[in-house]
Amino acid sequence: MATPRPCRGVFLLPVKTHRLRASDRDHGDMTIQAQLDDLHARAAASLAEVVDLDGLASWERSFLGPKGELTQVLRGLGGVPAGERPAAGRAANSLKTELSAAYDARARQLSATDLERRLAADAVDVTLPGRAPTIGTVHPVSRMIDELSDIFALMGFQTVFGPEVATAHYNFDLLNIPGDHPARDVWDTIVVDSNDEEIVLRTHTSPMQARTMEATKPPVRVVVPGRAYRYEAQDASHDWMFHQLEGLAVDEHITLADLKGVLGELARQLFGAERRVRFRCDYFPFVEPGVDFAVDCAVCGGKGCRVCKHSGWLEMGGAGMVHPKVLAGVGYDPAKYTGFAFGLGIERMVMMKYGVDDVRAFAGNDLRFLRQFASI
Ligand SMILES: [Zn+2]
Repeated sequence: MATPRPCRGVFLLPVKTHRLRASDRDHGDMTIQAQLDDLHARAAASLAEVVDLDGLASWERSFLGPKGELTQVLRGLGGVPAGERPAAGRAANSLKTELSAAYDARARQLSATDLERRLAADAVDVTLPGRAPTIGTVHPVSRMIDELSDIFALMGFQTVFGPEVATAHYNFDLLNIPGDHPARDVWDTIVVDSNDEEIVLRTHTSPMQARTMEATKPPVRVVVPGRAYRYEAQDASHDWMFHQLEGLAVDEHITLADLKGVLGELARQLFGAERRVRFRCDYFPFVEPGVDFAVDCAVCGGKGCRVCKHSGWLEMGGAGMVHPKVLAGVGYDPAKYTGFAFGLGIERMVMMKYGVDDVRAFAGNDLRFLRQFASI
């Protein structure tokens, strides 16, 4: 077993480190008065170089702060011989007062300069025009619906709205289009549910015809604006969602002449007093006879132009006398009552009136397109 070596202790003597303080430098055997004079001179020179409030704060820390040079001098007064102490104390306090006053004056000066600088930078030019608030505008389709409703209101038609989801019963059956009817394929239907009863997005606003007649007795005069849906490819003149306005009038002694009179008045209100309306035979299961109707082109006066595709006529929609089966289906006596119905494409109306050449623009969310209608 090795003999333990005697431990030679190492004694680390605490070394008193002495940080050279600002007030100690070069002062050596300088008198207090000389130290204060030196401090005074350096503080004044340093203050003259201060250009902003940050620099001033730094200056204050260096000379007046708790660790500043003057504070150190004041703390060192205890070491001054008793006879000299009162005079040294007065001199040091006097310097403190003077430097504090200089600090305050410089602070006021710099604050004023700083305020001026910020005011200059943030200056508001009151002569600049203000920013105009962005104000929305009524969509051209909504505007046309309002316009059509107003025109029809003057002719005694009430505007009603119906649900956009309909049962096949209302969308087809009550409109004389039973399930096995070949015409049912004409409407490319978007089916929502076909489990119990077929539920569809309405393919036209016509379901409201049956709903209105079920709920009221003749005379009936309503227009039904709203969205309709077809399962259909989009192009410049077809969209899978579009707006229609359906019209219906049922009473005793209503004839095709009444229909022509109402649609003629509509054309004159919309497109000008000289307009004429043309009826041609067409087929829709819920009317007999059925017609398509057109208005003569206001742009060329019927001579033919680009807007009317050189035909002189603009197609507006389909119409006809309400089929007796439709009247009977809702409990009206077809021997007593007759009526007419018509359907207009709202987008088509806007396109004709304002020269829009692509139906997709209406639901395209392009503000550049929509803004053009803001000033009309
Ligand atoms: Zn034309």
